[in-house]
Amino acid sequence: MEGQLETCVRKIHFCYGHRVMNHESKCATLHGHNAVVWVHATPIKGLDKLGRVVDFSVLKEKIGGWVDKHWDHTMILFKDDAKTLDLVKQAPAYKQPFILPVNPTAENLAHYLLWEVCPKELAGTGVVAYKITFYETENCYAEQIADPKDPELRKLYGI
Ligand SMILES: [Zn+2]
Repeated sequence: MEGQLETCVRKIHFCYGHRVMNHESKCATLHGHNAVVWVHATPIKGLDKLGRVVDFSVLKEKIGGWVDKHWDHTMILFKDDAKTLDLVKQAPAYKQPFILPVNPTAENLAHYLLWEVCPKELAGTGVVAYKITFYETENCYAEQIADPKDPELRKLYGI
């Protein structure tokens, strides 16, 4: 319906370690979080014939699957944080660190999900993710919100 935003939202949990390079205090030290991410999606052409934006399991499999593979139980580090990257790469690990082009703050991780991960993972599913709510702790979250009609965003989805 015109002027109405229909959404569905899926919650994703994961654990990660990071440090915020050049942070003024304790976040400059390597530490970890139990993150909770809410992925908000809206349909490109309205609800499907069953009356859904998309099946909730699609968001779980596509975005939850990506997060599980790349971010869960690993270190997420800024590409310029060379000393920490060297250190972490030497430590025994199941997964290598995930290297981010920017500092791994909640804001930047939400932005990466919205503009890099969601378009690649959700292209062809009939939905656009337009908002990521990223809880770094249960008391603190950052959000990134895009206009689902933004041509720049839609181009990333191939629409
Ligand atoms: Zn932190």
